[in-house]
Amino acid sequence: MKVKRFSAVALAATLLAASSCMPDDVNVQEADIAPDVLAAFDQAGFNTADIVKYESEDPIAGLRKGYMVGGDVFISNDQVFDLAPSEEIPGAEHYRTSNLVTGLPRRIDVCGLANYGSGLDLNSQGRSGLQWAINNYNALNLDLSFTLTFTSNWQAYDIVVYAPSGGAGGSAGFPSGGDPYQFVQVFDGLMNGSYNTNVVEHVMGHEIGHCLGFRHTDYFSRQSCGQNTNEGSAGVGAIYISGTPSGYDPTSLMLACFNSGVDGEFNANDRTALNALY
Ligand SMILES: [Zn+2]
Repeated sequence: MKVKRFSAVALAATLLAASSCMPDDVNVQEADIAPDVLAAFDQAGFNTADIVKYESEDPIAGLRKGYMVGGDVFISNDQVFDLAPSEEIPGAEHYRTSNLVTGLPRRIDVCGLANYGSGLDLNSQGRSGLQWAINNYNALNLDLSFTLTFTSNWQAYDIVVYAPSGGAGGSAGFPSGGDPYQFVQVFDGLMNGSYNTNVVEHVMGHEIGHCLGFRHTDYFSRQSCGQNTNEGSAGVGAIYISGTPSGYDPTSLMLACFNSGVDGEFNANDRTALNALY
């Protein structure tokens, strides 16, 4: 059986194709990227060949200009130069940026957008998937605890999850200033009945993982996408997460690509990595 894989890269193409019916104005550009920007990404451990210019606008995240790395992680123009050098976890397949959420123990208030309109609200399946994903994080008893509220009044929340028009995937960003990235887009093609709620749970949990500082588990190969490329490694600094194995981890929540058979759950290595950081 052919396994369908979904990535935010494929999603970007879907977005462009569907641009007539979406609120965003998304332009993925291949234009030249300034040398100082490339140098900053390189120092932070990203493959500069993987960086694409990105610009979008919607009523929640506003106008966002910057870059997309790893297919689904937005880095703003301002954030580029705040990226800390990457830290590699040798012998382990879980990697993080050096940009983490600080001030532990800490409560993270999550908004699932509802009753807002403009085609951005989570539908009932989206709400269920987000609830399940938040329950998964809270079940780990981390030094981060999560609340979840479904409301249109999103401004005061640490993380806002909403559903613009698009294919089956999502996007997020990395922490900055010690705060989680605020905007999680999970595109409504994921919640149109084509996928079960475990898949929705998976994408919600994955994108929130980026907001907390996780890179893709297979950033070095993207083999979950059927690729043999890498999203970059600086080899700068090293933190080993005890108990995580080496090599490809086919069931991690943080793989670059997912398929319709995912269960939405953390595997044991994901749990180890989350406990190590938070
Ligand atoms: Zn991702």
